[in-house]
Amino acid sequence: MAERKPIISGNWKMNLNHFEAIQLVQKLSYALTKDDVEAVDVSIHPPFTDLRSVQTVLEADKIPIALGAQNCHWESSGAFTGEIAPVMLAKLNVSLVIAGHSERRQLFGETNQDVNRKIKAILNAEMTPIMACGETLEQREAGEMEEHIVTQITEGLSGIKSEHVADMVIAYEPIWAIGTGATATPEDAQEVCALVRATVGNLYTSGTADKVRIQYGGSVKPGTAPELMSQPDIDGALIGGAALSSEDFAHCIQYRLR
Ligand code: PEP
Repeated sequence: MAERKPIISGNWKMNLNHFEAIQLVQKLSYALTKDDVEAVDVSIHPPFTDLRSVQTVLEADKIPIALGAQNCHWESSGAFTGEIAPVMLAKLNVSLVIAGHSERRQLFGETNQDVNRKIKAILNAEMTPIMACGETLEQREAGEMEEHIVTQITEGLSGIKSEHVADMVIAYEPIWAIGTGATATPEDAQEVCALVRATVGNLYTSGTADKVRIQYGGSVKPGTAPELMSQPDIDGALIGGAALSSEDFAHCIQYRLR
């Protein structure tokens, strides 16, 4: 079985101006040790307006945290008012971009086809996509979770080469657990992350499935991170609320010490 290095990502959503962003990054860098960042890949995903400031701090202070973005468009330039191209993010040394977060899907109507175009564009710009998937409570209760997840993965990855899939990150985020305080049980999260991996295995090869890193997301907190991270198919976490506190985010990253 492949050794998969854990990856923990902080999704700041539409929070923090660039001054606040700099403060949070500096606090986070004090809270993390060399061992922490050697054991776990860490990324932060500030709003677009903060990226340049955060990049400058990360690079000037040599902070080993990857810079991420929350979204992008699939075109590389043109008449798309209000949108940001992947190449613009790459120029800021952004290395990971979330595609298909449930808030983008639910509030802004993103489809699996849009997510697929974004993933291809992110890869073309030589960045790593974090493709998010997850079911609503209604879908779970109606017994439609499995079909929904398999469709999101299948359509989201359509036409993407095996070697790219092996290197990307997939985040399983049950919508009912995002920002609600209702974390999935480690067993439930493991079950769906195993389904995500099996789906990748069916679409590609078991080697690809073995390499792809799968995050769980949905109200992860310092208290719940250790048990979630101990599940065999959970290789990381995508964290919203708790990533806005340097202390809580650092404690999630330090899950192995807790
Ligand atoms: C998220 O933003 O992807 C997320 C999981 O948020 P929270 O941790 O606040 O539930």
